[in-house]
Amino acid sequence: MPVLAKGLRAALLASLLSTSFLASTLTTARAESCPGNPDALGTSRTLVVDPTEHTKIGTMQYGETLPLKDHEVVLTFDDGPLPPHSNQVLQTLASECVKATFFIIGRMAHQFPDGVRRLREAGHTIGTHSENHPLSFNRMPIERAMQEINDGIDHTTAALGDPNAVAPFFRIPGLLRAEGVEEYLASRGIMTWSADFPADDWRHISSAQVLHLALTRIEAKGKGVLLLHDIQGRTAAMLPTLLRELKARGYRIVHVVPATPDRPKTPTEPRDWLMHPDAHPALVASWPAVPRFVFAQTAMMAAPGLEDTRYDDDMTIFHKPRDRIFRPGRFAADTVPLPPEPLWPRSLQRAVAPVNDLPAPDRTVFRAPQMPRAELKQMAAHSTQHAERTLPARADTSADVTGSIAVQANTARRQLPGSWPVTPIGLHRGPLTLH
Ligand SMILES: [Zn+2]
Repeated sequence: MPVLAKGLRAALLASLLSTSFLASTLTTARAESCPGNPDALGTSRTLVVDPTEHTKIGTMQYGETLPLKDHEVVLTFDDGPLPPHSNQVLQTLASECVKATFFIIGRMAHQFPDGVRRLREAGHTIGTHSENHPLSFNRMPIERAMQEINDGIDHTTAALGDPNAVAPFFRIPGLLRAEGVEEYLASRGIMTWSADFPADDWRHISSAQVLHLALTRIEAKGKGVLLLHDIQGRTAAMLPTLLRELKARGYRIVHVVPATPDRPKTPTEPRDWLMHPDAHPALVASWPAVPRFVFAQTAMMAAPGLEDTRYDDDMTIFHKPRDRIFRPGRFAADTVPLPPEPLWPRSLQRAVAPVNDLPAPDRTVFRAPQMPRAELKQMAAHSTQHAERTLPARADTSADVTGSIAVQANTARRQLPGSWPVTPIGLHRGPLTLH
């Protein structure tokens, strides 16, 4: 028994030793691979892909994405190289020993060939992104699109002086995809790269917002290809924090390279190229196409103010849903009727047009026809008689007048069908005394 215990202890010790040895070897390897930063994020693995096998990737637009495991992220940078921000991005990636993929614009490569060479020296993957970055790949003639693609590749190749240094990876400017373009790229053995999440760093937002968008979108999908722009100051500014945060949250960076005759592709299963391989196949098949989030402009319209609403009583009541209009007598048994809801918020003030802006009436409006005095008197006398006959009573407001108002009983009692008695309730006939 003691012999067995001794043997077990020895085996356990050996196992512990070997584990710690392995761990220390790994740590040493990582520290060695990233000099000066033992806590670097690093690049966890290199993924070798065959561009002719899976020709379109990125769930922002396509059904497939790179065969990544959970918490694996691929960093991509578009539109460069352009100093100083591209250089700053390169420096940050170097300090964390992170490898990324850059999609180069041919015109930029022609203007800043040093920038492209620096990328190659740092070991990053270099794809292309057209010659002039036109935002019309989805509607331009295919011949022009082909020209844009080929010129971009030619200028990037010229900057590097080696056709093999350019990866057969292409990203369509503005992600404005077109089937003809994708087919042409596939026919040339070039893989079309969309992305799994952008960080909107081309918009006029702060670097903190770019960081926030990048992290929340990565967290939402759990893995994928992040689309960034190395020519943007806000991206260069937030990148160190992004890499630190990814490290803290347990994410790993994957470097993607194309397969070559002496570099075979990483073995994968077809399901590895799906973002959520365990999702129900029927749901995946019937799910509508992913919309393209490409904004022509980012300016927002102002929210309408109260004064913009045409507040109209009649219209408001008709727009009210019928079932919300108070209807007495429609209560269920044992329920207490509640007061009806107001048809519109009580706090609203109705806008009233200023009345003093109305035009003053012309003097001629008030002009009375000139009549002889005698005629006017006669007219007045007739009016008085008429009033005595029809009006029930009318108190004269002149002081110290005591009198009786003769009201013809017949007139007062006479009532037309559908009309009310002309004598109001409470008004007595007979002598009236005014105090
Ligand atoms: Zn771009």
